[in-house]
Amino acid sequence: MFDSAGRIAIHAADLFRLHYFLSNFMDNRPIHILLVEDEPSLRDNVIIALESEAMRVSWAGTGMEADLLIASEKIDLVLLDVGLPDTNGFELCRSWRMKQVKLPILFLTARSSEVDRVVGLEIGGDDYLVKPFSLREMVARIRAVLRRAPMAVEKANDEAAANRVSGLVVDDVRMCVLIDGHGMELTRYEFRLMRLFLKNPSRVYSRGQLMDHVWEEPDSALERTVDAHIKQLRAKLREHGKSEEMIRTHRGLGYSFDPQS
Ligand code: CA
Repeated sequence: MFDSAGRIAIHAADLFRLHYFLSNFMDNRPIHILLVEDEPSLRDNVIIALESEAMRVSWAGTGMEADLLIASEKIDLVLLDVGLPDTNGFELCRSWRMKQVKLPILFLTARSSEVDRVVGLEIGGDDYLVKPFSLREMVARIRAVLRRAPMAVEKANDEAAANRVSGLVVDDVRMCVLIDGHGMELTRYEFRLMRLFLKNPSRVYSRGQLMDHVWEEPDSALERTVDAHIKQLRAKLREHGKSEEMIRTHRGLGYSFDPQS
């Protein structure tokens, strides 16, 4: 860095290294996605889509490669295919969670049966996309998962928060929701919707996901039914002096419950 006269002479390479060091140090680096996917055409399309969003992508075609990258790289989120040549995504996710890997994980699955979806989330995944999915929806879901990631960690530190959000409390024993100590009169599905929202604040659910989680026979329910129940819930929140904006509409994606609203 010093020339023969002792003056500071910064060369382009030094500048680059300095920039690299500082940007990592300040954590001002691009979002780094680990894509675990063995299908080349899907891999290429996903990489192009993410790089055009200024994200950095590392790719693994097997579970073993993914393990190595998780251990050696600073990753912000994993896109995890369920069907891999040497393992499956659920097993991989489970093994990472057992090793206290807390990264957000978004499953890519070709099987749309409800069991797969629920199991994926129960074993510690944060969200899922069913193939074929739109790349735009993928980017939106990645951003949504990253937005709520710090909140999820805070929530883990405070278990009580899971049942008590902005004066709203889920009473699992009496199957009701209390607002500032007063019981809300809710139908069965309204209760189940509120319960899901309150336990997962800020998480964006599509209408299909809400039906899967809440309705007993999701296949026979219509997406319009979800909208009708959301409308009712908003009216009941308003009646109890809360903002109906607590249930946010995300255009083209679905709904989330935002306690700060
Ligand atoms: Ca696959």
